[in-house]
Parts: sequence; C-alpha cells; structure tokens
Amino acid sequence: MTKVFKFGGALMKNAGGIKRMAFLVSGAQDKNLVVVVSALGKTTNALESLLRSSLVNDKPAAEKIFLAIRRFHFEMAESLFGSARHPVFDELNNYFEELNKELSRVFHDRYEAYDQVVSFGEMFSAVIINAWLKENNIPSHLVDAQSIIVTNSNFTSAGIDWKNTAKTVTEQLLPLLEKGEVILTQGFIGADKNGNTTTLGREGSDFTAALLAHILDAGEITIWKDVPGLMNADPARFNDCHKLDKISYHEAIELAFFGASVIHPRTIQPAQHKKIPLYVRSFNGPSSFTRIGDDNSRDDQLSKIIIKDNQVLLSIGSRQLEFIAEENLTRIFDAFSRHKIHINMMQNSAVSFSVCFDEEQEKLQSLVNDLKKEFTLKYNSGLQLITIRYYNGELINELTAGKKIFLEQRTRTTVQMMVR
Ligand code: ASP
Ligand code: MG
Repeated sequence: MTKVFKFGGALMKNAGGIKRMAFLVSGAQDKNLVVVVSALGKTTNALESLLRSSLVNDKPAAEKIFLAIRRFHFEMAESLFGSARHPVFDELNNYFEELNKELSRVFHDRYEAYDQVVSFGEMFSAVIINAWLKENNIPSHLVDAQSIIVTNSNFTSAGIDWKNTAKTVTEQLLPLLEKGEVILTQGFIGADKNGNTTTLGREGSDFTAALLAHILDAGEITIWKDVPGLMNADPARFNDCHKLDKISYHEAIELAFFGASVIHPRTIQPAQHKKIPLYVRSFNGPSSFTRIGDDNSRDDQLSKIIIKDNQVLLSIGSRQLEFIAEENLTRIFDAFSRHKIHINMMQNSAVSFSVCFDEEQEKLQSLVNDLKKEFTLKYNSGLQLITIRYYNGELINELTAGKKIFLEQRTRTTVQMMVR
C-alpha cells in the first residue's frame, strides 16, 4: 500500500524540523512511500518580496532579500552537514545562480515571473532534504515535480493536465516504488507543456500530495501539521476549541472552501474520488490527528467557525443605470478571472452586485482600473468574513456583538457575514 506524506514549510524552519521529518519518514519506510515537501520556513514569502523588489527595479532591496534567502539555506545545510564539503552546497549554489538569472529575465507578465522565481523555494528545500534522508540511510530518490506534474499555463494557479500527469507519474514513480525507494518530490510546482515552471497556488503542496495519491491509488495521505489536527475554530482566536477526530470528505471540502487554512481547498476531491483516507496529523505528537474519510461522522455537525481578515467588499453598479444582469455579470466575472481574484462571497441586487475577496493591493488596483470604465464602484476594506458551519443564534450573536454587518448569507448549514 502506497502512502503519501506531505511536510509543510512551517515544520521545517530549522535543522531540528528536518531531522524530525527524516525520523518520521524512516518510521514509515516499510511502506511504499512518496514524500512531498514545501519550501523551508517562510521562504515562499521571502521569494515573493524578492520578486516584488526586483519588478520595481529596487536593486538594493532585492539583493538584500536574495542574500538573506541564500544565507538561510546555507546555514540550514551547514547545521545538518557541517561545513565539510558535501555535494549539497554545490547543488544549492547552482540553484541560487539560476535564480539570479531568472530575476534578470524579461517575462511576459508578472504571473509568469512569479512562477519562475517563487518555485525555487521548493527546489532548495528538496535538495537539502534529499541529501539529509540519504545521509540517514533512507533510499530517497528525488524526482523533480516539473518532470511529472503536467499543467496548463495558467501561471500562479495552474490547472492539472490529469491525463499526461497520470502517464508521467506512473511511468516514472511506479518502477522506483517497486525497487523500494522512497520518492521525494516538490509540492506546489509543475511545468506546462513548453517546459515552463508553473505553480498551483499558495499552500498548493497539499494538492500535489493528493493528486499523486490519486494517480498511484495510494492507501492513505498524511498531511503533517504543527497543530493537533483540524480544529473547529482557530485556537489563536478562541479559547474553547475542539479537535475534530473524524469528518467526512464533504465537510472537509466545505471547510477548506470557506477558508479554513489548515488544508488547501483543492486537496480533498482527489482523495474523495478514490476514497483515500486523509490524515491531518500532528508532527510532534503523531497519535493526535483528524481523519478525513467517507464515513458519516458526528464531528461533521459540530459548529465550526472560520474567520478571514483583510477582506474587501466591492459593490458594482451600472453606469448606464441598468440592472446588473447576465451580460454585466459576464464582464464582471471575466475581470475577476483575468486578475486572478478568488471570490469569497457574492450577492446580487437589482442595481448592484457585491463581491467579497481577500485584499491584495496590486490585484485590487488593476481590477478597479479595469471595471471603473464600465461600472460605478464602491468599496470597503479592512472587513472580516465570518463563516459558521452548523450555526445557532447564540453563536451568531456572540461573534457579531458590537460589529456592523455589511452583508449576510444563510443556507441551512452555513451562515456567512461580512463585518467590521
Ligand atoms: N511553499 C508554498 C507556499 O508557502 C506551497 C506550500 O507551502 O504548500 O505557499
Ligand atoms: Mg508553505
């Protein structure tokens, strides 16, 4: 039975984290094991800032960030391998030289640039981890995700070409698994059919793990986390939180869709389709976990709270004093998709259409510039989106006390409110 493990960057922010992950991998070695890793620590954020500075030609800032990322990885390698000449240092060096070249390339647009630059985080982490697993006598075999994950060219949130991905994954990975090797690959990244690197969206490594599990008919997926499992609310915000022991795929999809940040929304469906149980398991105490599976479970109906900060509410009206109807909506949705803005909540009235999404200044500005030619726009920022699954009146009152509600939507199981 093949197992797929995914380790995120938050778990591997220092050498101790990498050692711990190698320990967990070695404990599962008798299984056919595929290990998916993300960029170490906060590398992805740092690469995003590097790109931002580089795109506005702020050379001193870019250089400073580049060197900090470089130092972080070299120090990590040094604390694992000592400063003796280990081949990993040359490999890292080569990658940093390549990254430098990418930074001076001219790209078609900032999305393409993003994928070519930000994907390096996973390349750096995989070479270090591969070397460390080998150092510990684990038969790790690093397979570059760009050679197995085939995507379209929708940079920053690439779609999977399932047919070709299934072909490359089975051709390349099955023989290695049969030989008893542990497969290591980068999460979050892939390549389009022209060989350009693509990325699957922030936190997309979970999705890589699920999609490999789907193709390989894995027996289980484990997403290792620095929390005890999925919680019914964010422990950083609420005192009285419960870990969910067992929930259905359906409930997990709803939670991820509404923004529960523990799991990437694209992860659940591939697992569900092949009925592969998905464990969100504690990195430091593996006996604590949430099992996401097919069974109906009592935890499905427990109340759950999801809060997203930094929300914008944009109200869109017609300049021609028309109703916002089908043709207008087509143009509005088109603009959201062109600027790659994901809609968290929307509501239509006769004369205006309200949309709520995460505030990202660059995207917001380009969306507004685009839409304001045709539409009147009003927006509120700094709002909070509260979603409650299996709500009750008491919980709603508690969460909205002293707050102004801008927009509200209820179904039988879910209430969503935009508040300040
Ligand atoms: N490194 C990427 C990110 O931080 C992908 C991932 O962690 O899953 O978004
Ligand atoms: Mg990450």
